Amino acid sequence: MTERNYLYFMKLLFLLCMALQSFVPDSLDERVERLHDSIISIDTHNDFAMSLAFPDRRSTVAKGQVSFELMKEGRLDGAFFAAYQGQGPCTDAGRDNAKYLADSMLRALHRYARENRNLGEIAYCPEDIRKLKKQGKAAMLLSIENAYCLGEDISLVEHYYDMGVRMIGLTHNGNNDIADSCIDSLERHGGLSPFGFRVIQEMNRLGIIVDVSHASRKTCLQAVEASSAPIMASHSCVYNLKAIPRNLTDQEILAIAAGGGLIQISIGRYFLSILPKEKVGISHLMEHINYVVNLVGVDHVGIGSDFDGGGGIVGVENMGKMKAITRALLEEGYSSEDIAKIWGGNILRVMEAVRANARSF
Ligand SMILES: [Zn+2]
Repeated sequence: MTERNYLYFMKLLFLLCMALQSFVPDSLDERVERLHDSIISIDTHNDFAMSLAFPDRRSTVAKGQVSFELMKEGRLDGAFFAAYQGQGPCTDAGRDNAKYLADSMLRALHRYARENRNLGEIAYCPEDIRKLKKQGKAAMLLSIENAYCLGEDISLVEHYYDMGVRMIGLTHNGNNDIADSCIDSLERHGGLSPFGFRVIQEMNRLGIIVDVSHASRKTCLQAVEASSAPIMASHSCVYNLKAIPRNLTDQEILAIAAGGGLIQISIGRYFLSILPKEKVGISHLMEHINYVVNLVGVDHVGIGSDFDGGGGIVGVENMGKMKAITRALLEEGYSSEDIAKIWGGNILRVMEAVRANARSF
């Protein structure tokens, strides 16, 4: 073989190899990485703020599942960080204390974002999330878990909007001045209180998402009706798969979806299965996601981890493990387009709808 023929032969061989390679499927891990290059992934609930603002308070739930570093490791682009208050008495002192807790936690989150601005920043709108993704930084979205901190003062909704809050959960595990909770032995308002209806109107006017996780069935259904924008259950699962008050009935799922809203499946054993913690894994998470998809479609489902608030299952123990969910969704047969919606496309759509609605006021 002459040198010229040899070079020609080698070139042909190289082109043949390249052509063959394009027919050989990527390994699943490579597909996961490539998918995360193009999609935006957002988790709609964690309780990081409590231990950040009050590190000395004792807690029964595992901590350390949330950080900007872990978000980067797990290819999680954005997350709603909640300022949480447990429900106390609806007295002036109780309401003042709730406001003190919420304000302190929001200030602590702002401080965390400032001190770690090389890794992440606070995001106030979909454009901020997209910009931060391009910069390779985490987007911290602010939310409140339990509108108890509003007390009976409607002006505080704007106070929290000005602090950056873009989602408020109406209740925690107890009735408050705004609404009845899913976990309380007695009804107080029969759903939303008259003040609660005004709070939802004010959230609509400003552009804050209404969150019905922890709300009673009546509160949830009334909130869908009362809100002129889509609403969200930021961290709840399916009652028909695990019958606890915190999970959503088909009636609630259908109502939230009909209003254009979202059911954000939680990554917690308590919500997913009756099995012991060490036996609950991604297959249980998939059951709940598949259930909601079958009932109302892929446009109305996502992920709300509840990390640092009781979340975590085998295989997805913290934010650094989020890619395992993407892998499972691919194995389950979801398309790239579906996964893009589940991970963040749906949330961005709802954020945009809530803002557009606010502009119409
Ligand atoms: Zn919660």
